[in-house]
This record gives sequence, C-alpha cells and structure tokens, in this order.
Amino acid sequence: MRGVGWLIVLHWLLVASGSVEAGTPRFELVPLGVFGGEIEGNSSSYLLKELGGTDGILLDAGSPVSGILKGIGSDTTASASTASIASASTASTASIAKVRDALLHTKAIFLTHSHLDHIHGFALMMPLYLEGPLKGTTTDVYGSETTLGAIRKTLFGGSLWGDFSRIPSEARPVVRFRTLPQSTPISVVGLNVESIAVQHPVPSVAYFVAASDGAVYLHVGDTGPTEAVWIKARSLLQEHRLKALSIECSFGSVQAKLALATGHLTPALLVRELSKLAGITPGSETPSTEFGLDKARVLAPRLVKALGSLRIFVTHIKPGSYDEVRRELARLGQAGLSLEVVKQGEPVRF
Ligand SMILES: [Zn+2]
Ligand SMILES: [Zn+2]
Repeated sequence: MRGVGWLIVLHWLLVASGSVEAGTPRFELVPLGVFGGEIEGNSSSYLLKELGGTDGILLDAGSPVSGILKGIGSDTTASASTASIASASTASTASIAKVRDALLHTKAIFLTHSHLDHIHGFALMMPLYLEGPLKGTTTDVYGSETTLGAIRKTLFGGSLWGDFSRIPSEARPVVRFRTLPQSTPISVVGLNVESIAVQHPVPSVAYFVAASDGAVYLHVGDTGPTEAVWIKARSLLQEHRLKALSIECSFGSVQAKLALATGHLTPALLVRELSKLAGITPGSETPSTEFGLDKARVLAPRLVKALGSLRIFVTHIKPGSYDEVRRELARLGQAGLSLEVVKQGEPVRF
C-alpha cells in the first residue's frame, strides 16, 4: 500500500511539473469536417477518443459520413463514378460498412449548438442505423435544452425529416436526446464531459473533456468573445492539465464587425480571447470591433510564456476566408503561439 501511495504522489508531482503532458499523448482527435459552412462535404465534426481506447465520442456532426470516408482508411467512393454498376455497388457497400463500423464505436454525440453546419450530417446519417450492425442500437445525443429542443422542432419535426428519436420504435429509437445542463459532468467511454456556455446568436456551449488521468481537451465550437470558459480553462492550464483546445476562427481580421455581429472570431480576436486564458489583459481599452491584426501582433508575444506548449487547433474557417485566415494565423504564429489549422481526415494526438 505504501509503495502505491508513493507512486500516486510521484504521478501528481509529474503532472504538476508538466512532465506527464509533455511526453504522453492522451487523446486522438480526428477532424471529420472543419469548415464553418459546407464545401466538399467538410463542415464541423470531430471524433475524439482516449488513446488506446476503441470507442469515442463525436463533437458536432456537420459532415461525419464524408469525414469518416476520407479520414478513416482509404476513400472507397473515389473510383465509383467511373466503375461499372456492379463494382460501383461494391464500392458503395464497402463505404457503408466503413461508416457503420466507425459509428458503432461512436458511443455518444455532443452538439455545441443547433446551426446547420454542425448538425446537417447528423440528421442525414440516421438511416444508416436502421439496418446492419447499427440496427437496434441507440446513440445518446447530448446538448443544451435549447439546442436539442430546436432539433426536435425543426429537423426531426416531421416536415424536414423523420423523428429518429421515435424511429424505428419509441422503445428502441436510433437516438436518445439527453439534456446536459451546464457544469454538470457526465462520463462516456471513460471520458468526463462538461459543458459551459459561450457567446453566439443561439445558445452554444464549449465542452471540457477529461481523460482518466485528469488530462483535459477543450472543444470550443462557435463563439464570439466570451468569458466563463476562459476562467475554467485558465485554472486547468495552471494545473498543467489542459493539453489542447480547439477554437473557431471564421473570418479575416478586417471583417471584425461581421464576425462580432454573427458571434464569431477573427485571428486578431482569437488572440484577444487567448489573452484571457493567459491571464493577460489586452493592454488597452480598444473595443473588440477595432481590435485588428496590428494590435494582435503586439499582444501575441506576451501570451507565449503563459500558454507554454498548449496546442491550439483552429477550426471553423469560412470557406471563402480560408486563405486570408491562414495567412494571418501564420503571421501571429511567428510570435511563438502554437496555432494549428486542422484538416479533414488528418488526426492529431496530444
Ligand atoms: Zn458554425
Ligand atoms: Zn453557429
């Protein structure tokens, strides 16, 4: 017992010193769709699992099916258009099998909010659960009461699509909606998941996902400038438990007014948000609408020490702003911030 006790003390000393985080990836995140809008079957959807585990959770579900086909194994649909009907059918069968297998290991879906670029693929993949290995399974779908209520009323309301919370039967539906109140952690596949509200035109949440050893991944969906999430994230950062975060960056910095009006961020506003995580105020009373790239470039170097090796995955770029946002992020990254634009089908481990 005494030896075990010392091992636990040693483990927490290592955690406190950052040694555990530095060398041991705990999570794998597979971006199944990354854009803040639809292009080439590539909109907000992320598969997360603890490394070494077989099952995971889906964070948003804009384009899970095309993301699985592109990101997990080879894309068997690519040759179908030029193949004979018989071989096209075989390719399609293989694609369906691949998607069903991935979904079989996806034990729950967490939705940040109800906007279409985060849920349209969720609705359209439902028929895959009616036959084959998924038949008879029920997947829990978590979100705020407002988000789930909006989906029930609109997508699953009957006029747009069927109600798969009652199909094929009320006793064994394809999905079960489960309201997740803020700051109320639940455990799924060994991961502890907790939501906190962020700022968006509709209620939207960020998810803190903790692995069994206490390491945390923060998934921030759509948000404008916000506060509460940074208070919690900051204490996790100080405890050396925050491994990585994903956060949106929708428009180029010259579009600050549009971004703020629609509840989004620009690269400059992203740095302004990260300053809250770092515990450093932007250093001026500049309103967020006038916080441009020049001010962000002055602020960015001041954040490097506080953020350390924290990996920051940038998501949800609007397709039309992609090149501009990437250019700006590259300039801000020169200060030493780890800003990584994730790509569909390219897993990251941390
Ligand atoms: Zn969105
Ligand atoms: Zn949105």
